Amino acid sequence: MVHPVYADLPTTIFEEMSGLARQLGAINLGQGFPDDAGPMALRQKAGEALITGTNQYPPMRGLPALRQAVAAHYGRTQRLDLDWESEIVVTSGATEALAAAFLSLISPGDEVVLFQPLYDAYLPMVKRAGGVPKLVRLTPPHWRFDRAMLEAAFSDRTRMVVLNTPLNPAGVITPDEDLALLAEFCVSHDAIAVCDEVWEAVVFDDRQHRPLISYPGMRDRCVKIGSAGKMFGMTGWKVGFLCAAPTLTKALAGAHQFLTFTTPPNLQEAVAFGLENPGDWFEAMPTGLQRSRDRLATGLRDAGFAVLDSGGTYFLNVDLTASGIDEDDRTFALRAVRDHGVASIPVSAFYAEDPVRHILRLCFAKADETLDEAVKRLAEARG
Ligand code: PMP
Ligand code: GLN
Repeated sequence: MVHPVYADLPTTIFEEMSGLARQLGAINLGQGFPDDAGPMALRQKAGEALITGTNQYPPMRGLPALRQAVAAHYGRTQRLDLDWESEIVVTSGATEALAAAFLSLISPGDEVVLFQPLYDAYLPMVKRAGGVPKLVRLTPPHWRFDRAMLEAAFSDRTRMVVLNTPLNPAGVITPDEDLALLAEFCVSHDAIAVCDEVWEAVVFDDRQHRPLISYPGMRDRCVKIGSAGKMFGMTGWKVGFLCAAPTLTKALAGAHQFLTFTTPPNLQEAVAFGLENPGDWFEAMPTGLQRSRDRLATGLRDAGFAVLDSGGTYFLNVDLTASGIDEDDRTFALRAVRDHGVASIPVSAFYAEDPVRHILRLCFAKADETLDEAVKRLAEARG
């Protein structure tokens, strides 16, 4: 029969809301993806590689050219010193990287500390791997944790903590002092940190992304996960990276080889090209998104919505209660898509226990006209 984790598992909120948007012809500010096509040079490179390059299995850990490009990129942008041969594995998206980390590093009964709001894939995968989740509940507007919260969650059975920064759906970046605190807990509890950093390149207002792996004592106990889909704004590409010390990487590669074994070589080639020849992409991309964030935030505020700060990701959040809306997030989201033609994501979907029910996530990685029309429709929905 079906494994208990999957028996009652609902379809993820991203698919549910995108499905409704497709069916109803609504503007989709729900699932996070940009509406432009992505950098032409990378798409051209992928196309050329598809026609003239190899379409056979690439090396299991990924094309050397891509692993070298990833190591060089993180060296340049985050001052990390990663050995491309022993410390990097290319995966089919960050989703596969997460699965490989959970499957290879959790043994049944191990406690895993996770922060709510939770990205949808974490909990089912951690449970399927036999992990016992210990949830820390973060709340708006700051979405921060403190020492008491970590003390309540960590124990002598803690094996792993899962950190997502910049944080989807909140759009906040974990401050340095909180990262230092978490590092201290990982070291004192001898725990591994799985760091979901897929949004590392999408940060605004001159903020810096600082990877947990760069904190004292963390170099050999972090699994850093990245996503080319997010770096280059082509979310369907599904090229991810696992970065960790050689012993961890060996275990991660062991899981990866029987999840997908490899990732399409043409996309790997194009991502390697993009990382080696970024031009001004890593400045222009967040600058453009920041402008879109500001356009949506201003439009919403002018229409009477209370908008929370967004320091990174494709998302900003609206506080429905503070906006004078007396409905929970899911009720509002369903009414907005069905009656007013705008899809969004209710943040309560990211909580497994005691959900925060008054926050709505909106994706601003869209054309100006789309954002303006969405604001008009959301203002109607607000009534
Ligand atoms: N983690 C987080 C926090 C994400 O937001 C996403 C995708 N939006 C992923 C993982 C999955 O990334 P990928 O598409 O590369 O599998
Ligand atoms: N990460 C995307 C989001 O947060 C969705 C990814 C997915 O649908 N699996 O919207």
